[in-house]
Amino acid sequence: MAIKVSNVQKTYQSGEVAIHALRNASLTIPDREIVTILGPSGSGKSTLLNVIGGIDGFDKGSIEIAGSKLEELNNHQLTEFRRKHIGFIFQQYNLIPALTVEENIEVGKELSTSPLDMKEILEKVGMLDKKDKFPYQLSGGEQQRAAIARALIKNPEFLLCDEPTGALDEDTGKNILHLLKFVNQTFGRTVLIITHNQGIGEMAHRVIRMKSGEIIETDENETPIDPE
Ligand code: ADP
Ligand code: ADP
Repeated sequence: MAIKVSNVQKTYQSGEVAIHALRNASLTIPDREIVTILGPSGSGKSTLLNVIGGIDGFDKGSIEIAGSKLEELNNHQLTEFRRKHIGFIFQQYNLIPALTVEENIEVGKELSTSPLDMKEILEKVGMLDKKDKFPYQLSGGEQQRAAIARALIKNPEFLLCDEPTGALDEDTGKNILHLLKFVNQTFGRTVLIITHNQGIGEMAHRVIRMKSGEIIETDENETPIDPE
């Protein structure tokens, strides 16, 4: 069940000015791929990820994902779709400040179908010894690992990552990429990653380049490598 985006348009109205965040975006993403989305700031990367994940609506076109056509779903159905199928990872982690690491991960558990239990997931992301810490007690990399654990415990088919390493130093960023690669390889999850880092493209099966709300190029990579 691939992701199929067909002729999607999304326009924001800013006063008199229409901002074409997506002009005519089409692409197909086969299952079990790692896909990176590259492009300058403002080119529509976040908008593309958000419409695929059902966070944002769109004006025209069609998005088929997980057996649904998103344009046919009402708000309630969209929420259900997101809860069942999508894990989001953001640049700023979006952990709940008043909850510990373990409690934050619990938030993702409600519809869990993960083969891993809490302890295994904490071990996998290297956060077992930090499970009782609060977000403010953690480094950026640790917070991102907790956020990935929260997404993993739900076991979503699609992991959508908006600049997951954007706030991290290079080594910590590589750590996070290894973890995403692991999720892709071990659980066969489809992973979409928005990034400014060209290097991340080397670990992807597919690299998408955007410009001014359009997908201008898609490269397939037969031999993705591990991030060093
Ligand atoms: P990118 O992720 O590539 O930086 P975005 O998808 O965030 O690009 O934005 C694409 C365009 O849409 C930009 O011109 C941006 O300013 C505009 N945009 C994004 N979100 C909104 C919004 N909520 N309201 C108005 N304009 C927006
Ligand atoms: P990025 O470059 O990381 O994609 P942006 O700075 O484009 O981030 O956008 C950050 C957030 O602000 C997004 O949620 C986007 O929808 C919103 N946003 C971006 N541009 C605008 C805008 N012109 N008006 C209102 N919201 C915007």
